[in-house]
Amino acid sequence: MIIIIGAGLSGLVTAYKLKQAKIPFKIVEVKNKIGGRIFTKTTENETTIEMGATWFGRQHQNLIRLLNELEIAAFSQFQGEYYYYDDPDSPHHGKYKLPQQEPTYRIKGGSRSLIEKLYGNLEEEDIVFNTRVIEIRKEKEELVVTADNNVEYRANQVILAVPPKIWSHQINFVPALPQELQHTAKNTQTWMEDSIKAAVEFEQPFWRENNSSATIMSNYGPFIECYDHSNQQENKFALCGFLNPAFKEITKEKREKLVLQQLSNILGEQVLKGISYHEYIWSEDDYVKWPKEIFMQPHQNNGHPIFRESFFNNQLIISSSESASTFPGYMDGAVEAGERTFKIITEKTKVN
Ligand SMILES: Cc1cc2nc3c(=O)[nH]c(=O)nc-3n(C[C@H](O)[C@H](O)[C@H](O)COP(=O)(O)OP(=O)(O)OC[C@H]3O[C@@H](n4cnc5c(N)ncnc54)[C@H](O)[C@@H]3O)c2cc1C
Repeated sequence: MIIIIGAGLSGLVTAYKLKQAKIPFKIVEVKNKIGGRIFTKTTENETTIEMGATWFGRQHQNLIRLLNELEIAAFSQFQGEYYYYDDPDSPHHGKYKLPQQEPTYRIKGGSRSLIEKLYGNLEEEDIVFNTRVIEIRKEKEELVVTADNNVEYRANQVILAVPPKIWSHQINFVPALPQELQHTAKNTQTWMEDSIKAAVEFEQPFWRENNSSATIMSNYGPFIECYDHSNQQENKFALCGFLNPAFKEITKEKREKLVLQQLSNILGEQVLKGISYHEYIWSEDDYVKWPKEIFMQPHQNNGHPIFRESFFNNQLIISSSESASTFPGYMDGAVEAGERTFKIITEKTKVN
């Protein structure tokens, strides 16, 4: 039996491949839902809002290959002119045009379409939810995985499809993992762990009528980046982006008010007719940001080669996007990690 810890993209990619190869496995997931850092929310008005992973580019070939294989369509991010808005109180305040960016793409139906398609190939008994792994113990030829509800799973191989900083702090290993691995994992930033994603939903994309792309970069106000978030069919409309993490300290009501104020200053008073406001503070999620008080540089130690070494004779495999050799931290990295894990499992199965 193979135990996959985590039902994020990397874990689900491995599970999908194992299912195709008819190799038995079980996913153990702490939350009551799949997807991890992929979180597409649907509003009351049926607008899909990406609170987590959203964009990819042509360079993300692992992801593109998988989307093609699963027959999931993508569409171009609506782009126009990019503007940078400087703090009105600074001597350089104003609006500056930025150079055109490389085109980016989004997944039709939202990033969750990818997660749901992978999950759709599994059986109900392939996954247990609401179960937190707290220990992995090597006992003779087996690994014993203990969950917080005292349930134990015996496995030939265990996949850590969880960000390194999370497992290094939250899972106990017996015997202890090599010191260098533990040290590196504890110092590996979980990509986007400090992010606040926010969105405002609208009846109409009024900014387009005013010839604005609504692509905003700013060093003041809650939004530091904001983009047109209309769906592919162009019948649901929103603006969505990243808030300055410092705005975590105020209430949601205050944040919403400041978001609307900032956007209306830039795009006009029609912003105040927004239908609904949505946000997700990732640093409040214990399975994305842990420990809470330590700040790390973006992508610190992401892709470190130690994560691709063999541990317990390949019985313990380190996955998750942060372990990938190319584009670690991104969805593409998660796909690479999930596929590499499958390869290691099948190579080992052949040897045995
Ligand atoms: C705000 C935000 C924006 C992003 N934007 C983009 C983007 O635009 N483009 C892009 O390519 N990437 C983006 N990313 C990154 C992308 O989301 C990740 O690379 C990818 O989803 C990671 O997948 P994963 O499987 O490696 O990890 P995760 O998604 O973190 O999955 C890990 C899973 O393990 C579970 N888990 C953790 N601990 C335990 C435990 N002890 N026991 C059981 N289960 C456990 C978690 O609940 C989770 O489901 C973004 C991420 C965030 C947060």
